[in-house]
Amino acid sequence: MNQTSLKDVLTDPFGRTIKSLRISITNRCNLNCIYCHHEGDTDSQGEMSVETISNIVHAAIDYGVNRVKFSGGEPLLRKDFEEILLSLPKLKDVSATTNGILLKERAHSLKEAGLDRVNISLDTLDPEKYHYITNSNGKMFEKVLEGIHSAVDVGLTPVKLNMVLLKGLTDIEIDDMLEFTSEYKGQVILQLIELMDFNDVSSYQIDADLIEKNLNLRADEVRIRSMHRRKKYIINGTEVEFVRPVDNTEFCANCNRLRVTADGKLKPCLLVNDNLVDASGASLEEMPELLKLAVSRRIPYCRK
Ligand code: SAM
Repeated sequence: MNQTSLKDVLTDPFGRTIKSLRISITNRCNLNCIYCHHEGDTDSQGEMSVETISNIVHAAIDYGVNRVKFSGGEPLLRKDFEEILLSLPKLKDVSATTNGILLKERAHSLKEAGLDRVNISLDTLDPEKYHYITNSNGKMFEKVLEGIHSAVDVGLTPVKLNMVLLKGLTDIEIDDMLEFTSEYKGQVILQLIELMDFNDVSSYQIDADLIEKNLNLRADEVRIRSMHRRKKYIINGTEVEFVRPVDNTEFCANCNRLRVTADGKLKPCLLVNDNLVDASGASLEEMPELLKLAVSRRIPYCRK
């Protein structure tokens, strides 16, 4: 639908207009990270049909939503992920966040089906630390590296490497990760993520101000994204983004995303679970009212 035929926009009571959807398509995962927030959803086992996902996105674009990110669980565990992508309307940006383990086999078909780019979770370049953080073993770490290569090869770019900073464990690897990223000559971006304390992992909490101060000192240029007012630093030609969700009023004030749980509930905020709107099985005609209801329930977490 073009700009002139937009019915309206989805603006919440705090003036935040929804521009993107973050859709979890499964709660199943092939890793078990020590800190995982499970996108704020641990209970449900059900998974939305391709039709429900398609209906949600088709309805949302009429209200100006033009970006979709798929998440999980591990989204590549859905064998019909390509089918989901093929069912979508034309969007400005379709991305997925994945642990990369199954990406080598799927990168090409996902790109063909309409995926624009991927975020790949990689907190460390040390296989032993990787296996500790993700509760995995064997060849998982190598598979992620292969997944990154494949994503770059097929053009799922820019690939963003999601690196959760864990004090004393991964925060000491920022320089190594920067070097690794720079080898891809602009096709890979490093995204540092402040740890949110979900599984009693506060002992790994970093000093985000200190990290930011160091990035500032080293950056040739600093840019600010509208989404969450995230800062991007250009260091020796490599882009580094820092995501600071913890106790960050600016982050909440500039949140323009609506979440969807794997079983089809519209979810106004990662950290809030008592205001979900069930959209599973809803028709395209029913979807606009459900979207409006969910958006009307959005309260910035920092104000609660
Ligand atoms: N399995 C997929 C993946 O690995 O990207 C998608 C799901 S995972 C929950 C999505 C992202 O959330 C990952 O990049 C992960 O590192 C991040 N994440 C999970 N728990 C977190 C936490 N407690 N604090 C900060 N980031 C977290």
